[in-house]
Amino acid sequence: MASSSLHVDSAAVHAGRDDLAGLGVHALPIDLSSTNPLPDVELGGHSYEVIAGGGHPPADGSSVYARLWNPTVARFEKGLARLEGGADAVAFASGMAAVTAALLTLTSAHRRHIVAVRPLYGGTDHLLASGLLGTTTTFCAPERIASSVRADTAAVFLETPANPTLELVDIADAVAQADGVPVVVDNTFATPVLQRPLAHGAAMSLHSATKYIGGHGDAVGGVIACDDDLATALRRTRAITGGILHPMAAYLLHRGLPTLPTRVRVQQSTAHEVAAWLTTHPAVERVHHPSLPGADPSGLIGRQMHGPGAMIGVVLTGGFPVAAALTTAVSLFTHAVSLGGVDSLIQHPAALTHRPVTAEARPSEALVRLSIGLENAADLIADLDRALSLAARQVPSPAGAGTRVRP
Ligand SMILES: *Cc1c(COP(=O)(O)O)cnc(C)c1O
Repeated sequence: MASSSLHVDSAAVHAGRDDLAGLGVHALPIDLSSTNPLPDVELGGHSYEVIAGGGHPPADGSSVYARLWNPTVARFEKGLARLEGGADAVAFASGMAAVTAALLTLTSAHRRHIVAVRPLYGGTDHLLASGLLGTTTTFCAPERIASSVRADTAAVFLETPANPTLELVDIADAVAQADGVPVVVDNTFATPVLQRPLAHGAAMSLHSATKYIGGHGDAVGGVIACDDDLATALRRTRAITGGILHPMAAYLLHRGLPTLPTRVRVQQSTAHEVAAWLTTHPAVERVHHPSLPGADPSGLIGRQMHGPGAMIGVVLTGGFPVAAALTTAVSLFTHAVSLGGVDSLIQHPAALTHRPVTAEARPSEALVRLSIGLENAADLIADLDRALSLAARQVPSPAGAGTRVRP
């Protein structure tokens, strides 16, 4: 129904819902069937072959089996593809299942090398560094992509804004440097509301849908928007390896889409206010937020992104002890990993999300990461103000070296 020229707010409300009126329903249906009736052996077998190869179920056939295809998942995929401006999207059981499927799909016997721009989410860094999937990885800075690509490079992987220091990477420049090698962009922090990597030449725009897309901290999932050929290849990988999203989670993630643009804009505006306030606090050494002076030297906000997003990195003058104390001194923020939900979270990347990252590339121990939710900015600032004073007071003088929890 609605045309692709709609603004993102309108598209988000209607995306992936085109078939509902025909079904005689208004809310998203949840289809929990693990298996599906087969018309006869021939059509059943044909359906199996098509879907296991990554295709859509034939019109006169069957969806066969829920590891291969599920209508609730497919509806969410359609919705997300529309928001990302992609021909299609493929959804997975988690963000990491999506990263794994992307790597398995793009690599082949002769191409097992990955170029990855750091910093990355700790789990992605861990997967790449582990070589578990039979890949080798060259980690590099954004300006070193071209010199890191080899004849056997299967993919360039990057995140922007990057987790946890909010560095921005120029996607079009990365694509130019990759010189034909597919570029995978983890778009989790920006969401399609603020950034559409496919429009800048990326082959895949990947999400931990657990974060902003779901937005309510009650569903784990991953999704990749891409062209039709890559979607077919990803679905084939998914059918073989079994990483499909659960339909209940697909329902929750799809239900998150209509409010996504509004949530992101309000959270972003609050984050801008909180980040600016933090820069004035004596206990704070440095604030990472793309809205702050110097954080966007290439002018990507406006050109590549519609705004700086709602994630903040805070480096504490008092180092690890104050950072650690702050995570428990807050009361409106919850001390928990994950991000992008309606409630504000705080966590310590070096101890938690980025713990598996090799020491040289691990974020500063003085850094905490804030995910700004939908609370009022003044309440969040009051909570941080009180907690910063408390954390600074709790921490003994440098002589009390025994307070350091991690080596
Ligand atoms: C959380 C996260 C992931 C991993 O997603 P899961 O849903 O936890 O598997 C990947 N990338 C980024 C940027 C993330 O924040």
